Amino acid sequence: MTALLPDGTTPAGLTHVSAADEVHLARALDVARLSRANGNHPFGAILVAGDGAVLESQNTVVTAGDPTGHAESNLVRLASARLTAAELRTSTLYTSTEPCVMCSGAIYWAGIGRVVYALPEQLLGQMVPEQGGEPTMDLPCREVFARGGNTVIVAGPALVAEAADVHAGFWDTAP
Ligand SMILES: [Zn+2]
Repeated sequence: MTALLPDGTTPAGLTHVSAADEVHLARALDVARLSRANGNHPFGAILVAGDGAVLESQNTVVTAGDPTGHAESNLVRLASARLTAAELRTSTLYTSTEPCVMCSGAIYWAGIGRVVYALPEQLLGQMVPEQGGEPTMDLPCREVFARGGNTVIVAGPALVAEAADVHAGFWDTAP
């Protein structure tokens, strides 16, 4: 098992959502609300580096005309351009909804050490209708990460009611 920290250890408790994690998750939910207000899908993500530096990204699927513009994939691009591999390894990505298989892959390839999510994918799937005959993908991020050689620690779900509220009414008339 690959350690999260440079000293070769994986601290206990990182698979659980702490009170400090919930503060960061709440900020990711704020970013998701901003994304929705800006005409995009209601997802947001922030990355907190080991030194406390914070990066954030909204979803840009609609405004950028880019189906891969998920909050987490946008954040991975941003963070990878700004942080070293060692910094990414000791960073935590907080996301308003469990990362999809594409974003989980991006997080894995970026070498980000930990992911904390609010709304579970299965609950999102119940809210999102099939679009153009294509159902949403159903593959929990833990299953994606489990297939990789490096460990990505996952914690979540948390703040589920608040996270679901960000989606309320959105998918009935989604662009
Ligand atoms: Zn995604």
